[in-house]
Amino acid sequence: MIQASDKESSRQCVALCLISVWLGGLVAPALALTVALDVGHSLAHPGAISARGVPEFAFNRALAVVVQHALEKQGFQVRLIGAQGDMDDLRSRTRAAAGADVFLSVHHDSVQPRYLETWVPGGIPHRFSDRFSGFSLFVSRSNPALSTSLTCASRLGTTLRRAGFVPSEHHAAPIPGENRPFADRANGVHYFDDLVVLKTATQPALLLEAGIIVNRTDEVSLQDPATREKIAGAITTALQACLTGTPGHALP
Ligand SMILES: [Zn+2]
Repeated sequence: MIQASDKESSRQCVALCLISVWLGGLVAPALALTVALDVGHSLAHPGAISARGVPEFAFNRALAVVVQHALEKQGFQVRLIGAQGDMDDLRSRTRAAAGADVFLSVHHDSVQPRYLETWVPGGIPHRFSDRFSGFSLFVSRSNPALSTSLTCASRLGTTLRRAGFVPSEHHAAPIPGENRPFADRANGVHYFDDLVVLKTATQPALLLEAGIIVNRTDEVSLQDPATREKIAGAITTALQACLTGTPGHALP
């Protein structure tokens, strides 16, 4: 009896152990954090045009691919949204992000038309402004997870600053088209409540303007693979920290 019982429980144990190993294999990948990485704009509506005539969408896509690789290297799952350039409906972007742990929209910045001047590099006239430089971050108070959105944005501002980048404050200027209040001035974070992708996202959401592509110096730097790697590293560090509750604080 005892022997039979032992054999029985041993058989049960083997079965249970196999099930738990199988379940472990299923559960482990699901624990990886998923980043919905949104490539701002599209081929039809490419956003800002750089000081040398390159559309913002090309900058956004090139940076997003580098960010994707950096995140995946650190164990994140990445859902790249809009990389084909055919996503013109903003709400379809946040629908595509359903179930992700965070939504990050990648953009490059311009300035108000009043600041733009004309130059003629290579015989072709282009608009530029060297007046402002640096990154900006946005969160929406209409997003259902404002607190984590803001924590992630502040952390990203901090990791970008530690990597040598500087926030631009031009979106806070009291002029038409700007007036975006600071959520965390030191780390370059603003409130922009009506940004469609931020307010319709069902998870924490932030939008990064990585730099100002109508600035002639910044445009060149933002195309440098080393700059993109630095930005991608800052994003990876910040998202790891804010999504896993890693100790540490945003820089004051
Ligand atoms: Zn944009």
